[in-house]
Amino acid sequence: MKTRVVIVGGGTAGWLTAGIIAAKHCSQSTETQQTEITLVESPDVKNLGVGEGTWPTMRDTLRQIGISERQFLSCCDASFKQASKFVGWSNGKNEHYYHPFTAPSGYGSISLAEHWSATAKDIDFERWVCAQGTICEQYLTPKLPQMPEYAFSLNYGYHLNAGKFVQMLHQHCVEKLGVKYIQGHVEQVIPAENDDISAIVLSNGEQIAGELFIDCSGFAAILMGKHYQIPFKSKQHILFNDTALAAQVEYADNDTPIASCTVATAQDSGWIWDIALQNRRGIGHVFSSDFTSSEKAEEALQNYLKNDPYLDAQNVTTRTIKFTPGHRETFWHKNCVAIGVSAGFVEPLEATALVLIEKSAEWLSQQLPRERSAMTVLAKRFNELTLERWQEIIDFLKLHYILSNRQDSNYWLEHQQADSIPESLQEALMLWRTQAPGVYETNQRFELFSSASKQYVLYGMGFNTEQKYLAQTNQNEAALIKRLRNDILHSTEKMLSALPTNRQFLNRILESSGRS
Ligand SMILES: Cc1cc2nc3c(=O)[nH]c(=O)nc-3n(C[C@H](O)[C@H](O)[C@H](O)COP(=O)(O)OP(=O)(O)OC[C@H]3O[C@@H](n4cnc5c(N)ncnc54)[C@H](O)[C@@H]3O)c2cc1C
Repeated sequence: MKTRVVIVGGGTAGWLTAGIIAAKHCSQSTETQQTEITLVESPDVKNLGVGEGTWPTMRDTLRQIGISERQFLSCCDASFKQASKFVGWSNGKNEHYYHPFTAPSGYGSISLAEHWSATAKDIDFERWVCAQGTICEQYLTPKLPQMPEYAFSLNYGYHLNAGKFVQMLHQHCVEKLGVKYIQGHVEQVIPAENDDISAIVLSNGEQIAGELFIDCSGFAAILMGKHYQIPFKSKQHILFNDTALAAQVEYADNDTPIASCTVATAQDSGWIWDIALQNRRGIGHVFSSDFTSSEKAEEALQNYLKNDPYLDAQNVTTRTIKFTPGHRETFWHKNCVAIGVSAGFVEPLEATALVLIEKSAEWLSQQLPRERSAMTVLAKRFNELTLERWQEIIDFLKLHYILSNRQDSNYWLEHQQADSIPESLQEALMLWRTQAPGVYETNQRFELFSSASKQYVLYGMGFNTEQKYLAQTNQNEAALIKRLRNDILHSTEKMLSALPTNRQFLNRILESSGRS
């Protein structure tokens, strides 16, 4: 069967999806199974152009699509992301903790979290189980320059320029993977008898027919929302933020350090993200319009910029993005799948959007329907999995708010009200009072957030797994813990002296690509 896959939308979702499907199918087409991918993008609707933090999954995605890390780093002004650093979330007093991408030492064989809870609570949890926060504090890279592409000393993702990322993916998909690109505004949908989409119609009258349609049209959601009217489920009663002020800010000079973590600084009605690229920082304020005004949010952002000596904060302009946090009721309907913002959107607190795009596109690519009859089963499974993932994301983001001791505004107080906390999260919290999240935490095979992530946030925020429930450490465990702790201290020392700074590493890449 020939499968014509038609993707509507040329933002990050559209091009990542095109690349992931094309890398697997377009080179493997046989006489009986052929896949053809067309991406249609409106000249009139701009991409979101934000979304600058990725997960480590992006390394696999880029490798799979066939993009070299060197090319990516130099084309997209990219830098390494090793963690999220949360500032002021517990008490609003500039205190911080790290949620790194590297799991606690011994993860899977022993739960250091329980032993830390029992014996070492006066030491910062992340530092007790991992080296990555210490490396981030020194603005160091997660890898040595001589290491192969995508290999690492410490697990990492990236910070990137979203506009340049889209350009790079576009060029690669068209030139190397055979994706057909059409510029045109989709005005209309031609339905088939069974209510599938048989073709889309562009404003110039051109019709594009296909077997599978992927809606990557962002907030417009022209296929899933406008055409099929699949309901959108707001989650604003759980996650209050609905507005973002986004800015791009120059460095004060060419030698300022480049942070290799996203910094998320809590504010009285939201939080400020700070993402360091090679040549500028992407900084913005996500807040709830129910609790503060745009003017006050802008003021808080400008204060943040002014207080940072590494920034040239003169004449910074901001762009406002309004959104309703939530997701569609279903994500695959008939012969149409929604991926990216058309499927849902919540605040970028843990950079979950790009990873969900990668995971959804990967699933679809692995399970690309070979017959129309397969779609009904696949749609059911995709919908179940994607819904679980959204619930997981919403619970995990909410966790950051409800563990806070902040009482300085109604925003923080209301976040802690029981009626804003999903039952699944209340249940998990009850359990975590008696045991640390462990590897059997969920029955899902494709969970997004491992129990390691939950441990970092819980114990970083000062959560208490009660001492009386913790088992005594036996002799074997004590020996293993001692060894793991020594390894952490030893490897931290070694990395502190061997790893270059981000600035040094990235300058070297730029020099070798002739861009310095
Ligand atoms: C403030 C902010 C910060 C973010 N930070 C992060 C982050 O750090 N990490 C992360 O993972 N994610 C982040 N995100 C999310 C990320 O930006 C998006 O998930 C990502 O950009 C994907 O967008 P998209 O491709 O779905 O939509 P868009 O970028 O909006 O693209 C939509 C595409 O559809 C096309 N289109 C629309 N209508 C039509 C039509 N009628 N006909 C043809 N084409 C049409 C448009 O031309 C465009 O090409 C952030 C988002 C915001 C708002």
